[in-house]
Amino acid sequence: MISKNRFLSPKKWDLQIKGLSFRLPTTIIGHSVLNLPIYAHHIGKGSIKVLLWSQMHGNESTTTRALLDLFIYLNTLDGSKLMDGLSLMIIPQLNPDGASNYTRLNANEVDLNRDVIDLSQPESMALVKVFNSFSPDYCFNLHGQRTIFAAGKMGKPATLSFLSPATDSSKTITSARNQAMQLIALLNEKLQNQIPNQIGRYDDTYNPNCVGDHFTSLGIPTLLIEAGHNNLDYDRNFTKKMIFNALLIALNAIKNGDFLRYSPSAYQQIPENEKDYVDLIIKNIDIRTESGFFKNQELALLYKEEKIDESVLFSPFCHSFSNKINFLSHKVLDAREILKTYEIKFVRGKTIDIF
Ligand SMILES: [Zn+2]
Repeated sequence: MISKNRFLSPKKWDLQIKGLSFRLPTTIIGHSVLNLPIYAHHIGKGSIKVLLWSQMHGNESTTTRALLDLFIYLNTLDGSKLMDGLSLMIIPQLNPDGASNYTRLNANEVDLNRDVIDLSQPESMALVKVFNSFSPDYCFNLHGQRTIFAAGKMGKPATLSFLSPATDSSKTITSARNQAMQLIALLNEKLQNQIPNQIGRYDDTYNPNCVGDHFTSLGIPTLLIEAGHNNLDYDRNFTKKMIFNALLIALNAIKNGDFLRYSPSAYQQIPENEKDYVDLIIKNIDIRTESGFFKNQELALLYKEEKIDESVLFSPFCHSFSNKINFLSHKVLDAREILKTYEIKFVRGKTIDIF
């Protein structure tokens, strides 16, 4: 299986920005390790300032694609009404080297979401410089999450996940954190009718090196938004729409102050993400391992993602097997219907050619 949409290099993104029917105000806020420019777009002159950044993990492109839809919307009449009172600073690809190579890490193999204290990387420095000079009232840290997450124990994938990051190890609810929780509580309520039981809450273990934890500890409400999975949409086109909807709802709420009437306990009630999904389960399969032969098993597989030319290739690899697998799966197949010989040699982590 191949996805063209999931791979979003700076080159591809640049073409999309240049293809817009209007000009986006653009500045260069720094350069990556491999000297690619890092762009930011400053839209609106309102007094409420919102900073958003995406693709700090280079292989997490869904939220960046949603930003393109946001740019187009903001250029409409409705969009300009929404912008009245707001000023947005948007960094679509904080990690352009990772985006070029479809890697989470930057070119020095550093996770930019663990570098906000050390500031050892030029990309982290660029973000913090913008944070200091723009002085936002709210921040959005936009990410993409793997297919393995379920929204609690309701048997549904976490198509969107949110986090109001902690600001200390005892997870004190500071005023900034409280506001992020209120905003997420509103988002959860408004999005439930579009993705019922498919919204999860991310683990809030404090990590001072994470950007969201750091910015919240400086008193700025910061929301982590994770673009997750839905059914067999490995292109994440549906999720992209949900991210776009979430951003519109959030910006409206920030502008109107609607979210301030929500209780942070409504945030706490959002079910936590659980690592309960695999990509594929094949039933009725005979499995050979070094220690024996097992008939009529259930085999769980995950997809490995690999950049091939300008696309992402998803190849299944062995995760685990048993006579009754204890995972949810985005797809279930019966070996007797799809394989010529329904026996495989199981090596954990090894990709298999089953189709
Ligand atoms: Zn990420």
